[in-house]
Amino acid sequence: MAQPERRLPENADGDFFVDDTCIDCDACRQIAPETFHDHGGQSSVSRQPETSAEVHRALMALVACPTASIGTASRRNAREGVAAFPSRVHSNVYYCGFNAETSFGAWSYLVVRPRDLGGNILVDSPRFSSPLVKRIEQMGGISLMWLSHRDDVADHAKFAAHFNCPRVMHEADGAAGYGIERIVTGEAPLALDDELVCVPTPGHTRGHQVLLYRNETLFTGDHLAWSPERRTLIAFRNACWYSWAVQTRSMERLLPYRFEWVLPGHGRMHQAPADEMHAHLVRCVEWMKGRQ
Ligand code: SF4
Repeated sequence: MAQPERRLPENADGDFFVDDTCIDCDACRQIAPETFHDHGGQSSVSRQPETSAEVHRALMALVACPTASIGTASRRNAREGVAAFPSRVHSNVYYCGFNAETSFGAWSYLVVRPRDLGGNILVDSPRFSSPLVKRIEQMGGISLMWLSHRDDVADHAKFAAHFNCPRVMHEADGAAGYGIERIVTGEAPLALDDELVCVPTPGHTRGHQVLLYRNETLFTGDHLAWSPERRTLIAFRNACWYSWAVQTRSMERLLPYRFEWVLPGHGRMHQAPADEMHAHLVRCVEWMKGRQ
């Protein structure tokens, strides 16, 4: 629970505030950019929400915040923000909210599919929170959990136990140590079913992987994201824990794939026609090669 006495002085006067426990994960700024901004190393309220839509998004940010750093002086009930998750991104793909501090606030996603198509997929792990778990139960549960890499596993074990779902993770990120049921090895793409292709992309970590759904949506973990500042796709040079050269090669190996959505764990999501996305990816590879 955010503490009023720890309210950051940068907050605009009014009900909503961010306290000094903010870890600068960016989630609130993505969810409610009209309310939250980066004042330099942390977030604060730039302008109090006014319309009901703005209040709704501010409450969603409050719920998503991994460190419970967002609060209201009036102790406003956040039920509306809780009920908004999972929140639809497009078609049957949802953002789970309830970001976990143990994954530095990484975003996780739920793909909702009929059982005869393989059932629902949880992409990386959110916080194991009762309201979210209940909503996922109502949406059909989880048939498979896919984990991009070791940093974003959060409460994977609790979700796996509750939903009795197998997990997919790469060997090189210590999958065996996490008790993972389906361990990916090597760098060859692996079809998980007719709609899902798991593509190992070592670089950010040794065992990082991305997931392509229906040749439409690419779940990218910490490998690839949209930069609103540069208005193109980027990788995180300053958050590359294994090898930038290897990550560059992994990025190049994504060029043959077609997709219209990039949904990352960190950084911004983006949608564009497949040809346009491909052009951004080409530019990203060239940019990475120039920063060796
Ligand atoms: S969601 Fe929470 S931790 Fe993340 S930037 Fe906003 S206030 Fe900070």
